[in-house]
Amino acid sequence: MCGIVAYIGTKPAQPIILEGLKRLEYRGYDSAGIAVLSVPSGSKTGQVKVVKKAGRIANLEAELKNVAPAGLPGTLGMAHTRWATHGGVTDLNAHPHRDDKAGICVIHNGIIENYAALKTYLQEKGHRFISETDTEVLTMLIGELYEGDLEAAVQAALREVTGAYAICVMCENEPDTLVVARKGAPLMVGIGAGEYIVASDASAIIAHTTQAFPLDDYNVVKITRQGFRTSTTSNIAVNPKVMQLELDLEEIELGTYEHFMQKEIFEQPQSLRNTFRGRLQKDDGKVVLGGVSNFAKELVRAKRVILTGQGTALHAAMIGEYMLEDLAKVPAVAEYASEFRYRNPIIEDQTVVVAVSQSGETADTLAALTEAKERGALSLGVVNVVGSSIARETDAGVYLRVGPEIGVASTKAFTGQVAVLAMLTLFMARRRHMSTDACTRLIEDLESIPGKIERILEQDAAIKKVAERYCERENWLFLGRGYNYPTALEGALKLKEISYIHAEGMPAAEMKHGPIALINDGMPAVFIANRGRQYDKVMSNIAEVRARGGHVIAIATEGDKEIKKAAEDVIFIPDIAEQLSPMLTVIPMQLIAYHAAVLRGHDVDKPRNLAKSVTVE
Ligand code: GLU
Repeated sequence: MCGIVAYIGTKPAQPIILEGLKRLEYRGYDSAGIAVLSVPSGSKTGQVKVVKKAGRIANLEAELKNVAPAGLPGTLGMAHTRWATHGGVTDLNAHPHRDDKAGICVIHNGIIENYAALKTYLQEKGHRFISETDTEVLTMLIGELYEGDLEAAVQAALREVTGAYAICVMCENEPDTLVVARKGAPLMVGIGAGEYIVASDASAIIAHTTQAFPLDDYNVVKITRQGFRTSTTSNIAVNPKVMQLELDLEEIELGTYEHFMQKEIFEQPQSLRNTFRGRLQKDDGKVVLGGVSNFAKELVRAKRVILTGQGTALHAAMIGEYMLEDLAKVPAVAEYASEFRYRNPIIEDQTVVVAVSQSGETADTLAALTEAKERGALSLGVVNVVGSSIARETDAGVYLRVGPEIGVASTKAFTGQVAVLAMLTLFMARRRHMSTDACTRLIEDLESIPGKIERILEQDAAIKKVAERYCERENWLFLGRGYNYPTALEGALKLKEISYIHAEGMPAAEMKHGPIALINDGMPAVFIANRGRQYDKVMSNIAEVRARGGHVIAIATEGDKEIKKAAEDVIFIPDIAEQLSPMLTVIPMQLIAYHAAVLRGHDVDKPRNLAKSVTVE
């Protein structure tokens, strides 16, 4: 969601944390702010300067040039990009926040749920608030409880709050101390030589060090220039697990592409090769998934699989549902994590819950996972970010290995999720009843996917022309059946997210039960009409749209001659087993959405109102 970065060391803090902040800007970005603590010579205490601005980081940089042309002095600092939850998008509501008593300064990602009660309590104590945020309440609370020990004050304050937080705290009285903590929102500490950099994710750390540890819930870390100490909010010492970050700086840079989304669309052949590497054994007709092998028995005996996620991850989960029932013959259902969590779900014996999330931090999905675990389900994660909360909370899991996804609109994570769910399906199917031959054929098809995506990507210029023709239209339909019904939902979501065009995805058959009323002259309708069991039915649905004046853009299988007569525009994809086709059919829709957004002049990587990983429920 928002981005947090803080630095304590011997170098000027401002350039380091600003650079880190830019790497995190994709997470959420309606405002940005920075605070740096400097110590005047001869003084034992510090002075904190805060600069913050609504809007992009560029606005903050411009403001910094005005107020501090030489940069804010100091070697301890913190910076934040905000994705507002409490209080409008204003300069005053932007972080960092300060208290009115003890020289405390805080940045925060998350929501303090009991902020209203705490605010009343603090107002009765005489504190005056200047923002509308829950974060300022936490800041004042730390100030109120401060008695000369910042770590103790933070621990005490966090014992009083409910909700989710990743926070960084500094205090003018303790210029050699940075205190950070987390519950339900990601935070990691990078360990350099005599310096530490704390951030929401590894991308802000990697330029400085590859040694880091993620905080667990309720961990509080007190960092000084000499070292650090980790404890819980109840002050029980904790031994953090330091790990080696395996992230290449190149992976988080644009290179020759114009946008991260474009880069990530074009990366898919390679990202999927990484997803498959070492996991497919064609000759034995076997899929090897180290992450879940200890639970092979439970998976063979599973009576039901519940797949859960939000947004794009849910669409992948829906494809997983179809694959698991169709190929592994296990009852499966995909469900919004946010709904599953709160509807008192029945979890019977031998139920497996699969949490699908790119970031591994999606709050709704994490909450659903906790609920399912409490009710006795075996939990699996299908996650991209190594060491993320969902990866740690689940009993076992399979990483996507698609590399960092920076573009807010998910592309390579979607194909990675579908690929992992396909492998999980085959892993179970082979052990339940599928023959070696049948599995071998599907493995061959899986292996062919990267090359086939390359062929689709070669049609980029032609697909751009389709986007050009229709990008001014404000209403689109995306229609598909069977495995490509969820893909249609994903195509519509992509278009909505970045081009702000209203788009609806639905099962092609559903259209005639109501939405057909929307079709007017020239309305674009994207039909996924690849070869499959329901091809003839899809062709009938195409005819229904054409008869009412709609413009049909069909995604069809190479060699299909009929489709040319049926649709205005056709984008061909190579032939593949129907069950695996979403990994191909989605590619033209990703490109249409990308080009439409660029043509309409939108900031593709930073669409309005959106955040990359949604860490609030
Ligand atoms: N709830 C806080 C606010 O609205 C923090 C939001 C965020 O995570 O950026 O200011």
